[in-house]
Formats: sequence, structure tokens, C-alpha cells
Amino acid sequence: MLLYDNLGINEAGHLTIGGLDTVSLTEEYGNPLYVMDEDQIRRNCRVYTEAMGRYLPEGSRPLYAGKALCFKALYPIIESEGFGADVVSPGEIFTALAGGFDPAGLYYHGTAKTDWDINYAIDNKVGWFIVDNYNELEALDRIAGEKGVIQDILLRITVGIDPHTQEKINTGRIDSQFGVAVDTGQAAQFVERSVQLRNVRLHGFHSHIGSQIFESEPFMDQVDKLLDFAVNMRERFGFTAEVFNLGGGFGVQYTEADPAISIEENIRQIGEHLRKGCSEHDFPLPRILMEPGRSIAANAGITLYKTTGVKEIDGYLNYVTVDGGMTDNIRFALYKADYTMTNASRMNEAQDYLCTVAGRCCESGDRIAEDIHLQKPERGDIIAVLGTGAYNYSMASNYNRVPKPAMAMVSGGTSRLVIRAQTFEDMIACEL
Ligand SMILES: *Cc1c(COP(=O)(O)O)cnc(C)c1O
Repeated sequence: MLLYDNLGINEAGHLTIGGLDTVSLTEEYGNPLYVMDEDQIRRNCRVYTEAMGRYLPEGSRPLYAGKALCFKALYPIIESEGFGADVVSPGEIFTALAGGFDPAGLYYHGTAKTDWDINYAIDNKVGWFIVDNYNELEALDRIAGEKGVIQDILLRITVGIDPHTQEKINTGRIDSQFGVAVDTGQAAQFVERSVQLRNVRLHGFHSHIGSQIFESEPFMDQVDKLLDFAVNMRERFGFTAEVFNLGGGFGVQYTEADPAISIEENIRQIGEHLRKGCSEHDFPLPRILMEPGRSIAANAGITLYKTTGVKEIDGYLNYVTVDGGMTDNIRFALYKADYTMTNASRMNEAQDYLCTVAGRCCESGDRIAEDIHLQKPERGDIIAVLGTGAYNYSMASNYNRVPKPAMAMVSGGTSRLVIRAQTFEDMIACEL
């Protein structure tokens, strides 16, 4: 029922995270409240650093994908765990730097970088650009030239893998809007042009095949395709890639129906597969970069809501309404994402009350879950949604002028505020 090891139940019958009472956390910091467990974030990071250190070529490194969860205080944590970071916008660059992150460890993604964005990243000494397309390549070379900089780059290529996940989080197919396709021959032209340009220095390739992937085959296929492409580029243009960035995408358990995967075992298999392929093609082992986002943040976070009511529509269904919803967690509205929920105030009662949990917005799609079982709540109970560390705060909005909630970080049995709740004044701060 608790899904994650860092959760528990105390004598009061309340849910705990990192040993702390969740009901007390809402009394201290307000509600709704995001709670992140720093110790769990660090454990998640170490799965990558240890397995990559053991099974992948020297110099391999994980990069944290900030789009999953981005705020200042997170960056010192992931940097101290040996991670670089994948950033997708000047706003994420700004946030990472505000958190003290070394810009040399930043890898700048994005399919629609403007000249302003490129200038901003170069001026802030972002270590790496992951160039998405031909137009960006030319613009980057021109702007880097104007600044007298030689910019290190990887090229984002699309290897044509369908990892059988949902459409909206599937990015590796040929017709994806991200990257340049290998199968159309355009990725080869992309490489040919990159090696001619004087203000960029190409080191290798990036590909990201999707998200919430539970099988290891798509990643093996991806390594095969990257290697075939790299071998081909060596033959045709004399360019030998020394970096393969495999992107993110390892799946996490949101409910008990999701399989548990071993990231360590997957990385071991990737390493074995890579070494075999490289020796067959007599290709020097490239450094491997991986970009986990969800698998670092998701299971380290929960959201705590206060129940505002229980509405029983006789003969139809029961609604439990809470003081948050699509403004702090849009994933159900976007793609019917499943979550595990529990009544944090009544952990010792039977979880047998069938209900749909609705948020506070004027929007019939504002739901967190449909047809789930909870310990029957009363107004004032704290409802916990588990596994909300990724793609919740980072996708939050002010729809209906709902302020974004605060975030507390727990670690070693204590808690601290890392993001204060937005105020009404914050919401009108830009309005003249
Ligand atoms: C989304 C994304 C990631 C992170 O994916 P997760 O599924 O959260 O691990 C990494 N790299 C790129 C390019 C992405 O678009």
C-alpha cells in the first residue's frame, strides 16, 4: 500500500515521509504542500553514479533532466552527487546557476532556441549545446564566431525507435519534432555540416527515445543504432564520436500495476552491449551520458492536500474534493496518469471508499484520480498523492489564480522550506 520505502505510518496513524509526520508538515508549512525527500533523491542519484561507474566506459556521467523538477535548492544536491544537468531553456539555465551549479556541467537542449537563447547560454558559459536542428547549428556557429568562442556540441539525432509508450511522451520516432532523423539521411548531412563549421566542436550524438520505459530492449536498440550511425559517420566523414548521450526515460512505479525495474541491471546490459558492439566494429568506446529526470525525482516526492468535502451523487459516484488539483498536478488532465493516493490522516482505517478525487478548478477535467479507493475522508483530512516529485511542480500553473504551493524538503529526520507558497501579490507582480 505504501509503494515506496521512505514512507511509513506512525503511532498517530498518520503517513510519514523520511520519518516525518505528513499531517504535521502541513500544519507547519501549509497546504497544499509538495514534500521532497532529499535522502531519496540522493539514493536515486547513486543508483546511476554507481552503476555507470561500474559498467560504463570511463568518463561516463549522468545528467539530471531538470524539466522533471527544477528549483534552485535542488541543484547543489545533484551536483554534490556527481551529476551534470540537462537544461532546456534559459530559465532552467538561470535556475541552475542561481543554485550555484557549474555551467561547464550544463547540457543545453531544446528544439526552438532563439538567437537570444543562444547568446544567453554562451554568455553564461554553458558547457555543452545539444543541437537539435540545422537552423540552430548555423545560428550557433555564427553567434559563437561573433563572440570568439568555440562551442562544444552534441547533435540530437532521431534513431527511429518506438518504445511502445504513450504517444505524448514518445520522442524517438522518425516523425518526431525533436532532433534530425537518421533514416532520412538528414542526420548524416547534419554531421557533415557540423564538422565543416569552425566555431562549434562536435563530440558525439544525443538521442532520447521516450519516457516511462520499462523494458531494456529499446535502450539496446538505441545503442545499436547510435553505434551504426557513428561507424557510418567515421567512414564517410572521418568523424569519430567520443560521446553517446542516451537521454532519459527509465520508468518509475506510480502504482502497484507498474513493474519495478532495476536501473542498475539495465545499465549493466547497456554496458555489455556497447562493449560488444564497439569491439565488433573496432570502434573506440565512447563515454556514455544518461539524462534521468523522472527516475531521480518522482518517487522522492509527494503532494499533500486538505480535503474540502465529500460529495456523494446517489446512484453515480462519490467525489472527494481537495484544495489543489490540475494547477499543481496536471498529469491526470494531460494523459490520465495514474497515481497512488492515501488518506494520510487515517492510515489505519480500511482503504475501501470508492471515489474520484477532484481539484478546485472550474474545469471538469480537474481530477487527480478516478475510481480509486481511499480511507473514507472527512473535511480537513490530509490526502497524500505519492510519486509526484517529477512533472508536477515543474508543470504547475496559476489557472483560476490558484497560487503555486510551497515545497518542503525532508532529510535526516528534519524538514526545511525550499520553496515558499506563492502569494496573491506574486501572481500580479508582472501586471502593470
Ligand atoms: C524528458 C527528457 C529527459 C528525461 O526523461 P525522464 O523520462 O524524465 O527520465 C531526458 N532527456 C531529454 C532530451 C528529454 O526530453
